[in-house]
Amino acid sequence: MTTIDIVNPATEETISVLELLDATAVDEAVARATSAQRIWAALAPAERAERLRGFADTVAAHQGELADLEVSNSGHPIGQATWEAGHVRDVLEYYATAPERLSGRQIPVAGGIDITFAEPIGVIGVITPWNFPMTIAAWAFAPALAAGNAVLVKPAEWTPLTMLRLAELAVSAGLPDGLLQTLPGRGDVVGDALITHPGVGKVVFTGSTATGTRVMERAAESVTPVTLELGGKSANIVFADSDLERAAATAPYGVFDNAGQDCCARSRILVQRTVYDRFMELFEPAVAGVTVGDPRAESTEMGPLVSRAHWEKVSSYVPDDAPVAFRGSAPTGPGFWFPPTVLTPAASDRTVRDEIFGPVVTVQTFADEAEAIALANDTPYGLSGSIWTENLSRALRVTRAVAAGNLSVNSHSSVRYSTPFGGFKQSGIGRELGPDAPFAFTETKNVFIAVADA
Ligand code: ADP
Repeated sequence: MTTIDIVNPATEETISVLELLDATAVDEAVARATSAQRIWAALAPAERAERLRGFADTVAAHQGELADLEVSNSGHPIGQATWEAGHVRDVLEYYATAPERLSGRQIPVAGGIDITFAEPIGVIGVITPWNFPMTIAAWAFAPALAAGNAVLVKPAEWTPLTMLRLAELAVSAGLPDGLLQTLPGRGDVVGDALITHPGVGKVVFTGSTATGTRVMERAAESVTPVTLELGGKSANIVFADSDLERAAATAPYGVFDNAGQDCCARSRILVQRTVYDRFMELFEPAVAGVTVGDPRAESTEMGPLVSRAHWEKVSSYVPDDAPVAFRGSAPTGPGFWFPPTVLTPAASDRTVRDEIFGPVVTVQTFADEAEAIALANDTPYGLSGSIWTENLSRALRVTRAVAAGNLSVNSHSSVRYSTPFGGFKQSGIGRELGPDAPFAFTETKNVFIAVADA
């Protein structure tokens, strides 16, 4: 039996030892999910809606427990983890309306009537990363369940605890046994078995672009459709005509939230040259003001990195001779702590190119709007980005010109459950969330019914 130690990243203590499943367990899980899905899809739409609302209520009743679990498993600050558990509830409630709204169309044709049905795919495989274990899983399982599917979630090796609990809560809330299962295991074992299993009709993968490429290759072998949410290297573009105080005060939170372990992190700040000095003057105290520390404390804004291995990867981007402009604070002692770090490297440096996935941001300057757009787009990624300007026309011109899926003007917001989320270029394929998400978990069936002449 293979096991994995689940480690609290803030203390380095082992909090649990978990058995990792193998490919045989995936076969059994798919068989159970297939039976559960038949029961689920046969329920009246209003009944499925009611059960999903019940699941949302159960999550709400366990919000504190789920948040505490995420604090100890992932090192997320308690305020953030509480929001995450609440977000799972919100996403479930939002998609609980979907079973009664999955309408097809009636299309005018000669000789009869033509109607379409949004049929559930069947069993959906969901492979999640370790940065937002609960919320990213919910973005897939809530609309997939709402569309009448069963869902098998393979959580990331380091952070399986909240998703294991959510699957238990689904059963206690009255979802059919086996409809939502969590399968802890290695990516190249359980993840791969899900992708290649003939009983799994679609795969949603969130993680690195390198692994996403592999997932797509494996899925191609059986023409299994995929949604991919991959990496990012997003720009935070600060124009001279912006509210510079607000742009500087909020910039740390656009990149250091979740210790920078966020595919939407605005990890490249681009500042118009004429206001660079003033921006840096304002940015330095804002970075120093980020409260890094014990994730259990309500006042904490940034916790540790998720693991020793990840700490080593992030650290490799900040060697002793790195061009550090300034840094924030971090605790010493046990825990995978890394202070918020601001670099001013050459444009060709790998810190400007690679997704570091830690609290490290680069600052570059630009002369004018055209150069800002060119720099923002000079990346294989295209997930998110921010534009700071008080000029509405400029804001619209630049948002339309930046090749990314989720842009915000004068804010760093990326994710609302009611709006679509996903990437351009190598940041992914497909969209999650928003009103159309359940349709991504259906197949369109067209039916023509001949009407005989009288
Ligand atoms: P990281 O962000 O640490 O680079 P990955 O993108 O590799 O992580 O991992 C995201 C998810 O993909 C995790 O659940 C991981 O177990 C899973 N995974 C890793 N390798 C594979 C693979 N070959 N096939 C399917 N899933 C994988």
